[in-house]
Amino acid sequence: MNNLERQRALDDTPFDKLREECGVVAIHNHPDAARQVYLGLYALQHRGQESAGIASADYENLWNIKGMGLVAEIFTDDVLDKLPGSLSIGHTRYSTTGDSALLNAQPIRVESTKGLIAIAHNGNLVNLDSARARLESDGAIFQTTSDSEIIVQLIAHSKEATLIDAIADSLRQVEGAFSIVMMTRDRIFAARDPRGFRPLSMGRIYNDDGTETVVFASETCAFDLLRAVYERDVQPGELIMVSREGISSRQYASGVPQSSCIFEHVYFARPDSRIYGRWVQESREEMGRRLARESAVPADLVVPVPDSGVTAAIGYAAESNLPFRFGLIRNHYVGRTFIEPEQRVRDFGVKLKLNPVRNLLEGKRVILIDDSIIRGTTSRKIVRMVRGAGAKEVHLRISCPPTISPCFYGVDTPSKRELIAANQSVEEIRQYIEADSLAYLSLDGLLQACGENNDLRYCTACYTGNYPTQWVDVEDILPANATR
Ligand code: AMP
Repeated sequence: MNNLERQRALDDTPFDKLREECGVVAIHNHPDAARQVYLGLYALQHRGQESAGIASADYENLWNIKGMGLVAEIFTDDVLDKLPGSLSIGHTRYSTTGDSALLNAQPIRVESTKGLIAIAHNGNLVNLDSARARLESDGAIFQTTSDSEIIVQLIAHSKEATLIDAIADSLRQVEGAFSIVMMTRDRIFAARDPRGFRPLSMGRIYNDDGTETVVFASETCAFDLLRAVYERDVQPGELIMVSREGISSRQYASGVPQSSCIFEHVYFARPDSRIYGRWVQESREEMGRRLARESAVPADLVVPVPDSGVTAAIGYAAESNLPFRFGLIRNHYVGRTFIEPEQRVRDFGVKLKLNPVRNLLEGKRVILIDDSIIRGTTSRKIVRMVRGAGAKEVHLRISCPPTISPCFYGVDTPSKRELIAANQSVEEIRQYIEADSLAYLSLDGLLQACGENNDLRYCTACYTGNYPTQWVDVEDILPANATR
């Protein structure tokens, strides 16, 4: 692929291929495992709102229930009663729309030569088509179009004799981002890809009767609701097995440089979570502080775009000695505007979601803080809204660098064509969103705010276009008719 073709690939990569935001939870050894997973998923609802699923097992049988909608809508008490057993995994997903959505909801359950396996996966594989073709020529029949099923099929077709060896073998054959939890009738597995793109933590519940429950979750905020104690992260390239015999771990891959998703700290994870060993709140507040140092402007108020801009705005206000005010109020009963498929719905959605506090904004020079500009639609509406409420000046500050390239590793970003910063300069974006000034946090500022060091390396592909995996993988996710 030459440079022009690469560019075209990024421009044309279909939206559907990129949407894979998810949260996963697993529980080992709890009398009501599915209800614990339910609580964990409830805390991870922000990671995906379109479908959710829970699988459970009692050492003999394995049940699996999936549905469209929010976790609490799908898993009523009656439904949870149908998920007995002391082992359970769960998944919440923001996926593609349409008929395939429920089919591709997870956990995916597959009967294999190694027994019944259920899998829940957060992330995106990038060598999808080649692995799939290889498996199909080997006789595999796929039930779904989801990339997670590839992992299970690889396990089923592995020549390794034991299940744990087959899992390690299959994880070595896939490329991309995966934080996964898996279960059989009697065991729980958790693994992270060798680069550690997406988070996955391990915790423990110390039960009143002296027994211990092992928990895995995408974010530690899920542990709090379960009264689980955070123990450690699943390491990049690590595969953990939990059974009646105890916990065993192996490094199935090593020597690959870490590239954990920095956008988890910018936007995706909750500030009350600790991911990659670092509090999200701490990173976000520091982003705001650095943003204030890098691009100060005379003003009267610092106003966050709620909820995504709140923590950075607290840092910005503290650093610049300006008052922090909730000048925009969010209606929490509306879904995220970003994820509405139709542009028209999204445009309307901003007004449904946010409303200005006129008496705070009137006559004021306002610094608005948000986490990111993707297409620019939201920012433009918000700037207009704040000005319409009487603000004298509106200065927009963004707590990360311009988003110039799509994510192939599990964050929902549109194709390059739709990313405003991929196509326009900061000054052109400022004009489009009608702000008095616009500034982004520098890449260096962001990396420092997120504590990058020799033991913590980030993927910044959405800000740099430098993808940690091979370019050949991008070819794999090209639409069929694209020029190669
Ligand atoms: P846009 O109108 O496309 O510029 O949307 C920007 C808004 O979407 C910002 O306020 C972000 O908080 C939010 N946002 C950014 N990335 C994502 C994402 N991957 N999923 C959902 N919302 C996002």
